[in-house]
Amino acid sequence: MINLLSDTTTKPTPGMLKAMWAAEVGDDVFREDPTVNALEAKCAALFGHESALFCPSGTMANQIALKVHTRPLDEVICDEMSHIYQYEVGGYAFHSGIAVNLLKGENGILQAEMVEAAIRPKQDWLPRSTLVVIENTCNKGGGSIYPLEHIQGIRRVCQQRGLALHLDGARIFNALVETGDTPITIGKEVDSLSICLSKGLGAPVGSVLIGNQSFIAEARRVRKAMGGGMRQAGYLAAAGIYALDNHVERLREDHAHARQIADALAQLPWVTNIRPVQTNILIFDLVQPKTPAVFLESLKQKGIIASAFGPQTIRFVTHLDISQAMIEQVIKCMMYDV
Ligand SMILES: *Cc1c(COP(=O)(O)O)cnc(C)c1O
Repeated sequence: MINLLSDTTTKPTPGMLKAMWAAEVGDDVFREDPTVNALEAKCAALFGHESALFCPSGTMANQIALKVHTRPLDEVICDEMSHIYQYEVGGYAFHSGIAVNLLKGENGILQAEMVEAAIRPKQDWLPRSTLVVIENTCNKGGGSIYPLEHIQGIRRVCQQRGLALHLDGARIFNALVETGDTPITIGKEVDSLSICLSKGLGAPVGSVLIGNQSFIAEARRVRKAMGGGMRQAGYLAAAGIYALDNHVERLREDHAHARQIADALAQLPWVTNIRPVQTNILIFDLVQPKTPAVFLESLKQKGIIASAFGPQTIRFVTHLDISQAMIEQVIKCMMYDV
């Protein structure tokens, strides 16, 4: 099977399993798991923040951030494509009792002026704008990268107007290997960020929420309230440490693979509107009468799985478990008009 469904589908490599097997563990609810502590310290230092918190999922890390940054009846400003809006079950309303103010950016990327214009005046009858969330790379935007100047501009607006800024950095390393920016450069522009270890980095489970000491202290309480306090989680944290040490630079290969498929697709008459490929996500439309259902079934017959991303839209995601040979196989199948 060639699995282009998501970069979450990766399985631990032998090296990662070895690191997990060898992990020293303890009860993390008592903060006695040395491997979890090491992962948290590593992530905090990497992004130039004081503290970090290991979470079971990216969704939980983001939801904790929303909860800690806001109070009920507040409003979070974000792009309409945001993961926190699209794919977290409306958790912002459920956990935090807040509203969303959705903006239409370009492939999920906002400009500072749009954010500034969306901030509500202070009136008793209006939600209170207290938080901005940006996503880098933006999943639904086709793995689009936030230019650093945009982040800096949004940061300036947030500081001037007293709003917090959270970065959903589930795929931040995909952005960083492309732009050459350092984690510190991005880290210092935001109040908090979440990173996923279980996407392109290839760990089986886990995300890390990063911020200052008081933010993370509160986040730890909220994580426990959500049922996310884990015990001997060091086995999972060890996979995360291994991923950060070994699987960041190689993300470039995934990006090259996605571009190779995009170049091949560009020659096909039944493919249209291929979104710019900046990282490891490739989104394109099928020309009618070809439908995603028929196309995906035909791919499946050839051992390739991917997903529909809209009525005429397909998404391919490249990752650690996709080799150059698999990419060539995918291209060959497409050329023979599947
Ligand atoms: C996958 C993803 C998340 C959530 O991660 P889970 O571990 O699947 O809950 C959050 N934000 C973005 C942009 C993602 O792609």
